[in-house]
Amino acid sequence: MSFLDYAPAPESTALLSLKSDYGLFIDGDFTPGRGTPFQTISPATEQQIAMISSANAADVDLAVAAARRAYDRTWSRLSGSDRGKYLFRIARLVQERARELAVAESLDNGKPIKETRDVDVPLVAAWFFYYAGWADKLDHAGVGPNPASLGVAAQVIPWNFPLLMLAWKIAPALAAGNTVVLKPAETTSLTAMLFAEILQQADLPAGVVNIITGAGDTGQALVNHPDVNKVAFTGSTAVGRAIARSVAGTDKKLTLELGGKGANIVFDDAPIDQAVEGIIRGVFFNQGHVCCAGSRLLVQESIHDEVIDRLKTRMQTLRLGDPLDKNTDIGAINSAEQLARIRELSDIGEQEGAERWSPDCAIPENGFWFAPTIFTNVSTSHRIARDEIFGPVLSVLTFRTPAEAIAKANNTPYGLSAGIWSDKGSRILAVADKLRAGVIWANTFNQFDPASPFGGYKESGYGREGGRHGLAAYLKPSVRPSVRAALASSAAPATKKPAAGKKATK
Ligand code: NAD
Repeated sequence: MSFLDYAPAPESTALLSLKSDYGLFIDGDFTPGRGTPFQTISPATEQQIAMISSANAADVDLAVAAARRAYDRTWSRLSGSDRGKYLFRIARLVQERARELAVAESLDNGKPIKETRDVDVPLVAAWFFYYAGWADKLDHAGVGPNPASLGVAAQVIPWNFPLLMLAWKIAPALAAGNTVVLKPAETTSLTAMLFAEILQQADLPAGVVNIITGAGDTGQALVNHPDVNKVAFTGSTAVGRAIARSVAGTDKKLTLELGGKGANIVFDDAPIDQAVEGIIRGVFFNQGHVCCAGSRLLVQESIHDEVIDRLKTRMQTLRLGDPLDKNTDIGAINSAEQLARIRELSDIGEQEGAERWSPDCAIPENGFWFAPTIFTNVSTSHRIARDEIFGPVLSVLTFRTPAEAIAKANNTPYGLSAGIWSDKGSRILAVADKLRAGVIWANTFNQFDPASPFGGYKESGYGREGGRHGLAAYLKPSVRPSVRAALASSAAPATKKPAAGKKATK
């Protein structure tokens, strides 16, 4: 046993009381879907956890109709402070059930329990607390006095942070006075169904939040539904593009949070041990299934060898295995499809001449796993420097001057995140100013806070989530009474003019 061999420390699943089948959550109740049900499995064992319903177009109609009724009859009529009370209640229930949610998320998604326990679930509660506070302060959201909600929001989310993405979507929508139909990703519906139970516990009025499960066709039917007013999508750029096309020409408001290929830039004056921790956190957190991952390391040429040596030493200490074990750093890859994509792009990296390295680590027999991997000798033309791999794979490039670092960092169709490691504040500010990325971390990486807006440029999407900006995405300016009167009079039928030669009767 080496000094880093730990005895197994698995979190117990005894506190979970899961059902064998989950229905759709529509109008405050669980109801079976009319599509073909599918299984949700643990990616660490490939064993079935539960069966999940699939919503067909008629179910989508029902869910949107329930959201519309709830919008018209209850939610849009509540005061902001009353809406806020529901959100505070949801936040507290998330905290009360935090351990259960963390275990369920690790089981269903494959991510390590120490991340669901210390990052995902606390942030979910924080998001609801934060937007609960906004619900009665919408005048300050930046869209003018007395802003109006939009109506019914259709929200579609991915599998990498199932519960957290749900919170990013639902909390601001409700605070702003909208009702919601949300579709989780098909491989990670479990915690959304537990969240539906929390909504029942919180006594949220029926229909304010509806959760429908299913695959891409369910998502498509939802975003194309004529009675939704807002579409909020987080997922791949390809699907985001298709949604943008389908929403174009309608009056639906749209926000898109898409892919990324973030640059993590390390200058020669950076504190190297801290930078190495930041590189690890940037690309191996959540198995690299992170849209804003620092998946391209740009390291100044003079310190390249030292950084890579220390990085390899640190990577040897990463523990891959059972997501429910409290010592696990790298859990399971979420699905067989995602594993195939990571393998394919990594093989292409080797074929194109990059040098591949992974620490020795035992890969469990069942389940989907990929050892943490770095590629050195990568050039900007390599696929692994351009395409989003969405796995625990780092591509290392070098630069000599700040100008070269900026040019290389911006040489991507994406623009979601970047990191800068340097001892000099002035250099950090000067470089950050020239990077085309929605979020830039300095001497840290992958830090999230509900008060901080998050979103991208270029093919990373448009619109912002989090902070005041995330709230404004669910609001529209109210029409002032004088403007409303003018609009009404211009819309009224014109008074008939008297025929020529006749006097108007008084
Ligand atoms: P995906 O686009 O395949 O699926 C996302 C969701 O869209 C799923 O719920 C899916 O069922 C649904 N969907 C699929 N086809 C659809 C269609 N035609 N119409 C409507 N909905 C449809 O993405 P994924 O593989 O689940 O997630 C990974 C991607 O998400 C990565 O590219 C990642 O970068 C991105 N992501 C972005 C952010 C961000 O904030 N920018 C956050 C997390 C993930």
